[in-house]
Amino acid sequence: MKKYNFGAGPCILPREVIEKTASAILDFNGIGLSVAEISHRSKDFQPVMDEARALVKEVLNVPEGYSVLFLGGGASLEFCMIPFNFLVKKAGYLNTGVWAKKAMKEAKLFGEVVEVASSADENFTYIPKNFEVPTDLDYLHVTTNNTIYGTELHKDLDVPVRMIGDMSSDIFSRPVDVAKYDCIYGGAQKNLSMAGVTFIIIKDDVLGRVQREIPTMLDYRTHIKKGSMFNTPPVVPIYTAMENLRWIKANGGVQAMQKLAKERAEIVYGEIDRNKLFHGTVKCEEDRSYMNICFVLNDEYADLQDEFFKFATDRGMVGIKGHRDVGGFRASCYNAMTIEGCKALVETMKEFEAKH
Ligand SMILES: *Cc1c(COP(=O)(O)O)cnc(C)c1O
Repeated sequence: MKKYNFGAGPCILPREVIEKTASAILDFNGIGLSVAEISHRSKDFQPVMDEARALVKEVLNVPEGYSVLFLGGGASLEFCMIPFNFLVKKAGYLNTGVWAKKAMKEAKLFGEVVEVASSADENFTYIPKNFEVPTDLDYLHVTTNNTIYGTELHKDLDVPVRMIGDMSSDIFSRPVDVAKYDCIYGGAQKNLSMAGVTFIIIKDDVLGRVQREIPTMLDYRTHIKKGSMFNTPPVVPIYTAMENLRWIKANGGVQAMQKLAKERAEIVYGEIDRNKLFHGTVKCEEDRSYMNICFVLNDEYADLQDEFFKFATDRGMVGIKGHRDVGGFRASCYNAMTIEGCKALVETMKEFEAKH
């Protein structure tokens, strides 16, 4: 049976990218060695690092003056590295859920944190709008896609301060106005690569403003200076990122990815809105994530929860259980999810509706 991977992360990657990684693990570039067992400083691996970093810039149209890093630690370590390196006095955070709160918690260790707005009152099922942003912030931190609740900022905000974006789960799914950000980061395992590497796009000239001592490994300047090779980088996930970036580029870049994302979202939300059994948890249409589509059973059908999960699993739908904070179902539709996969999910929902 064909399986459709709707998992939120680690996530689906293009088959071709997985195959190329598998092949490079067995024999990298025909050198008779695995990409996993050669020196990261060798003449064989260096081009991988160089190309992956260059492709991030090219695919996302990153302006001059930014560096791209591939580090370990996940987006969660960035929650602390960001304020360590950028928070002089006061930072703003847009509270759109669990990840934003975790980022805020770390920032409080380093300075004053202003919660500019929050959607906690409705369990983060919408994106706050029309909020005031103090002009004296060192930065405003935003989570552009809220993986757990299925809300997304589809456009980069217009605010009077510099932004920092956690783009873990929507990077490379749309064009980004990088110039508005001092830093963009994320765990790669949602839409870029396998788990084990974090991508960071950082504006060079904003570093060095904080007075505090920064441990060597947590200082972005260390990694910029050493070309993202201060210590041994996660070589295999970086290889996969490079192959995936090649795939994105060959398939029309982020413009094409955005178009596909919209198409997928229309198919799945269309069915959620039509089907008598289900409703979407995010009501405001413009806040609905293209990446993580959350839906629940209507109250009168609430006891069908386990039955639908089994019904869908039996038809090859993998990873659609909703996050425990939201319940219900979540169909994650990252770049590699096909229209065919979305249609298969819709068919499953229709069949289940007919049964009840
Ligand atoms: C998954 C996720 C994180 C955490 O990423 P790790 O790499 O596991 O630390 C942070 N932010 C968002 C938006 C996420 O989806």
